[in-house]
Amino acid sequence: MKKIIENIFARPAAAGMVGDGFRVYQYFPGPKSFFPQKISPFLMLDFNAEIDFSPSDTVRGVGVHPHKGFETVTVAYKGAVAHADSAGNAGVINAGDVQWMTAGAGILHKEHHDEAYSKKGGPFEMVQLWVNLPKKFKQTPAKYQAITNDDMGRAELADNGGYVRVVAGDFNGVKGPAFTFTPINMFDIHLNKNGNLTTSIPASHNTAILVVNGDVEVNGAHAAEHSFILFRNEGEEVTIRANEDSVLLFLSGEPIKEPVASYGPFVMNTQEELLEAMQEFNSGKYGTLE
Ligand code: MN
Repeated sequence: MKKIIENIFARPAAAGMVGDGFRVYQYFPGPKSFFPQKISPFLMLDFNAEIDFSPSDTVRGVGVHPHKGFETVTVAYKGAVAHADSAGNAGVINAGDVQWMTAGAGILHKEHHDEAYSKKGGPFEMVQLWVNLPKKFKQTPAKYQAITNDDMGRAELADNGGYVRVVAGDFNGVKGPAFTFTPINMFDIHLNKNGNLTTSIPASHNTAILVVNGDVEVNGAHAAEHSFILFRNEGEEVTIRANEDSVLLFLSGEPIKEPVASYGPFVMNTQEELLEAMQEFNSGKYGTLE
């Protein structure tokens, strides 16, 4: 049975800045978004739709800040982001790469434009997702997975229709490399004009598609550039056909049916745990990062 579409939302009207390096439309949740609910296990989606940054000698971005109790997933389409964290990890997320960072028990990190990109300027296009952790894994040690193009699963579509890069989960038998704490599918879909695909996702998964670029038909409904398709938990089959060359971010996951208590960069289950997280942060428990 076809997966039923709940709604197709146009891009939120207003963008906001994260630090001075990311100009994002917050698709969910939050006051600027078009729907307030989180779609568990996904907590937040910030889309830096393509913009040109001018060349700069100082790198733009966000300075040192904490996270606890969930994961941040950064998908780089254009431009490059340098990151460093208090667990001693550092690197560059280049176009085509995904960084899957598990904040878990707590971490400090910073996210800036890569220096080489910064000097040159030019197109910049990214998504950052926040993915919740179930209660039993909120205290897991912080870590990150750098997932490059070569690591990803790749499915070629029939009739020169394009390709699907599988970051996490399973697309028609092709598996993604990301380790996830709950069942999640994350696909980077590239369709050529008139290309199409069909896949099946469990009805129990919360499921959504962001049209990063292009123009598509999803289960017969039209979805324009930057629109966001949210499905109901009814039906399994998703068919997509591209009206022009298109790039889509496909997300689905088994909902985590636990209470969510969140404040800024901390996402726990209770108010008490939130207070604890802030105390840990204030007492330097998440380590140091310059
Ligand atoms: Mn962050």
